[in-house]
Amino acid sequence: SLKIGVLALQGAVSEHIRSLEQAGAEAVAVKKTEQLDELDGLVIPGGESTTIGKLMRKYGFIERVREFSDAGKPIFGTCAGLIVLAKNIEGQEEPHLGLMDMTVARNAFGRQRESFEIDLPITGIEQPVRAVFIRAPLIREIGADVEVLAVYNGEMVTAREGHLLVSSFHPELTDDYRLHEYFTQMVRQSKTGESKG
Ligand code: GLN
Repeated sequence: SLKIGVLALQGAVSEHIRSLEQAGAEAVAVKKTEQLDELDGLVIPGGESTTIGKLMRKYGFIERVREFSDAGKPIFGTCAGLIVLAKNIEGQEEPHLGLMDMTVARNAFGRQRESFEIDLPITGIEQPVRAVFIRAPLIREIGADVEVLAVYNGEMVTAREGHLLVSSFHPELTDDYRLHEYFTQMVRQSKTGESKG
């Protein structure tokens, strides 16, 4: 079976675990870098990206997650997790993981729209997905290998670059788990591809 970890340093962890289980994967909370060795995929949840980045540095996750990614293992970043994966963060000198070829803006919807919910059409998923945005970031620029999967008000809010998937919103806060199913499928394909050599 597929084993997918949810980085559990800060943020919305248990909701992701539930959604991954709904999507048919075995899901575990990841608190130690050693746990990465036994995982087929990793979710970096929403929360506060500065805090998550700080704790990742403190506990040695930056290097280890980069290795995990270099091995081709899928990573799914939601909200703060999207920021943690980005190569460039507007207004910040250094990225956190700096893995995905995009520039992101934090808290990009402004104060009057701190949180809201919409039905969002996503490429590769048949009907719109219920999407909860909370102090959400936006993707401002993307590299040539990044595929945009969803746009809201002309802004990029879901994207994929090979084995990396990101969403501005929180897919784990509803019982619509189809984006977790999509990610689980990416993990399954990467694992099968591996065993075929
Ligand atoms: N605004 C948060 C940040 O910049 C992200 C919000 C979220 O994950 N819901 O890290």
